[in-house]
Amino acid sequence: MRIILLGAPGAGKGTVAKLLTALDGSVQISTGDILRGAVKAGTPLGKEAKGHMDSGGLVPDSLIMGIMEQRLQEKDCQGGFLLDGFPRTIPQADELGKLLTKLNIKLDLVANIDVPRDVILDRLTTRRTCSNTSCQEIYNIKSNPPAPGDKCKKCGSPTIQRADETVEAISKRLDVYNEKTAPLIGYYDKLGKLLTIKEASSDGVVNAIKAGIAAKK
Ligand code: AMP
Repeated sequence: MRIILLGAPGAGKGTVAKLLTALDGSVQISTGDILRGAVKAGTPLGKEAKGHMDSGGLVPDSLIMGIMEQRLQEKDCQGGFLLDGFPRTIPQADELGKLLTKLNIKLDLVANIDVPRDVILDRLTTRRTCSNTSCQEIYNIKSNPPAPGDKCKKCGSPTIQRADETVEAISKRLDVYNEKTAPLIGYYDKLGKLLTIKEASSDGVVNAIKAGIAAKK
C-alpha cells in the first residue's frame, strides 16, 4: 500500500504504521525517526535539525524534501510505503505530489487519524521511547511500561522521555500542527484521497484503513 498517515503528534501514526507494515511488507518512513537518527549520529543534517526539533518547531521544508526525495527512491519502497509525519506543510505536500508524478507512483489513501487534544496530551507526556536508534520501541508508563529500571523490553537499552515530549514542547507541537499541518486535511480531501478515522484503538484504525483502501480501488 502507498499511504500518508496524517494526524497530530500522539495520534498514533507510528503505532498504526508498524501494524500496517506487518500486513503487506510496505515500509514505514518516519521523518521524525530519520531526523532523530541524524541528531544522534551528529551529522550536518542532525545539527541543523536539532534546535527546531527540541523546541517543538518544524525543520525547514528544503531539508525534509532532500531526505524524502532520496528515501522514496530506495529499493525497499517499491513494495509500498507508509508516510508517517510527512508531509507536514502545504509546500511539502506540493513537492511530494511532483515527486510522485515524476516517479510514476499513485497514492492509495491519506488516512487522517483524528484524536481529541486531551487524549493526545495524556499519551505524549506518559510516552517513553527506547534510546537505541535502531530499536525505538515505544512504551507508555501507564498502559505499557518498560522493563524494571526503565529498560527497553526488546533490546535492554534505557528508555527516555523525548526532549520534545515535555508539556511546553507538546503544546507548541500541537499549535504548529493546527497551523501548518491541519490544512493538509482539506488539501487531500479536494484530491479525493482523504479518509478521516475517529477510532480509539490502533486496531480499529488499521481496519478502517484496510476498508478505505479496498473502497478506493
Ligand atoms: P515526529 O516524531 O514525527 O513527531 O517528529 C519529531 C520532530 O521532527 C517534529 O516536531 C519536527 O521538528 C521534526 N519533523 C518530523 N517530520 C517533519 C516534517 N515532515 N517537516 C518538518 N519537520 C519535521
